[in-house]
Amino acid sequence: LYPDDTTGVGKELRLKQEYFFTAASLADILRRFEGEHDDLRLLPEKVAIQLNDTHPAIAGPELVRLLHDTRGLPFEEAMDLATRTLNYTNHTLLPEALETWSEDLMGRLLPRHLEIIGRIDEAHAKANPSRKVAVLGDGRVHMGELCFVMAHRVNGVSALHTELMKETVFADLHRLHPERIVAETNGVTPRRWLLSCNPRLSGLITEAIGDGWVDDLERLEELEPLVSDSGFMERYAAAKRANKAELARWLAATQGVAVDPDAMFDVQIKRIHEYKRQHMNILEAIALWQEMRDAPEAGWTPRVKIFAGKAAPGYVLAKQIIRLINDAAAVINADPLTRDKLKVVFLPNYNVSLAEKLIPAADLSEQISTAGKEASGTGNMKFALNGAPTIGTLDGANVEIRERVGAENFFLFGMTAEEVMERRKVKDHAKKAISADPRLSAAIGAIRDGVFSPEEPGRYANIVDNISGPDYFLVASDFTDYWRAQREVDAAYRDADGWARMAALNTARSGWFSSDRTIREYARDIWFRNGADT
Ligand SMILES: *Cc1c(COP(=O)(O)O)cnc(C)c1O
Repeated sequence: LYPDDTTGVGKELRLKQEYFFTAASLADILRRFEGEHDDLRLLPEKVAIQLNDTHPAIAGPELVRLLHDTRGLPFEEAMDLATRTLNYTNHTLLPEALETWSEDLMGRLLPRHLEIIGRIDEAHAKANPSRKVAVLGDGRVHMGELCFVMAHRVNGVSALHTELMKETVFADLHRLHPERIVAETNGVTPRRWLLSCNPRLSGLITEAIGDGWVDDLERLEELEPLVSDSGFMERYAAAKRANKAELARWLAATQGVAVDPDAMFDVQIKRIHEYKRQHMNILEAIALWQEMRDAPEAGWTPRVKIFAGKAAPGYVLAKQIIRLINDAAAVINADPLTRDKLKVVFLPNYNVSLAEKLIPAADLSEQISTAGKEASGTGNMKFALNGAPTIGTLDGANVEIRERVGAENFFLFGMTAEEVMERRKVKDHAKKAISADPRLSAAIGAIRDGVFSPEEPGRYANIVDNISGPDYFLVASDFTDYWRAQREVDAAYRDADGWARMAALNTARSGWFSSDRTIREYARDIWFRNGADT
């Protein structure tokens, strides 16, 4: 799945995979439906299909094909039934992630579907004569538009992302269909992301409030009064300390790195992408290392910066970021001046099993995407639930997490989505930010001069040029405020009781981020309304 689609054969394989799985699913759904019902007009009332991103977008034309070509319904009726059965969840506003297919490739692999897409486009245009929106245009099929046009409900995955969908990618379609877009903030399952991955904390919670939280996560709010109970708070802190000691033993045994379990465990684990800004995090680590070397005896808060994440196979810059983190870790971890204050660890092969080991042991959750780019995030929810406060931007579900856990239990920094759009228009915004911050220019200078790649000083020219030039993701412009927030984190962590209280309040106030709540909302707002006229 998901082959490297930077090549023609990769693209073709991807479209074949998408069609194969979608067609198989629809064939199965219709087989089961026809086993129970003999009237295809009942389909929207009996079946709800959720398109998870644009990858199964071909479901629209495929369902029309099944109903029209193979079952003999008139085209308009087939399209109406399909549209009232399908719904679409959008997961990203990044233009490069919204799939389009060339009409050439689509016409060669799926000629009948291309014809049907043409008729869908025409029918939508006829029903909406004021429209400016085309599924087909500039020789390509636009899968986001196709999903929108063929869906009864279209949803974003956080409040902010849903509003930005209405204002940006789907602005024209939203004006035509103002009732179609709804917000469904993501959630995570408490069975995996607390009960099973963190037995020490879940045992303590169950002793305190019973086990009702396991399938009713908002009952975690019953923990709130216990943050003033010193006996409970001692046990809460002890559970985190034991999780950290266990992770430290695992890191020593499997990765050969020694870390102090009393140091702050600062964790950024997620796919590697420029918008997630792992490079801003490693720049901060480099700047911190330089500052520690200048004043090794100052009262530093010891930190272990843990990274993990995979890059897409064709994403060269993301792979260079992984290499830079590894190179910087090797130099920083070997420095006898700073060794007991700062460690950087990059763990390979990030997956769910590794996430289940790291999250219960985390003190700090890094959620530092460029505002407006992270649709929701779910890692952010897992950390908050397990008592790791967030350092983050006002992006995706961070906004809602901060509202629920309280601004005083969240380390906010950076530009808002609106400010980001304005800043991009400022000429030389990156150069200006770099020359205004000596720490940032020193950190970038060290990378440029080959401090972390002495055998090949130009190795990171690509990253350096990007951050100091176009810097679309505004690493340079957000760095200074990120540094400020990190020093606030340092100070807060030195107050162990205050930190534990902040962590426990994150746990107590994260119950709303259960996927049980999310699924209930999909059922109420989307699936039970399938087949309705509006
Ligand atoms: C939760 C999770 C993610 C999503 O993380 P974000 O920080 O929201 O991007 C990705 N990969 C794995 C393995 C996860 O468990």
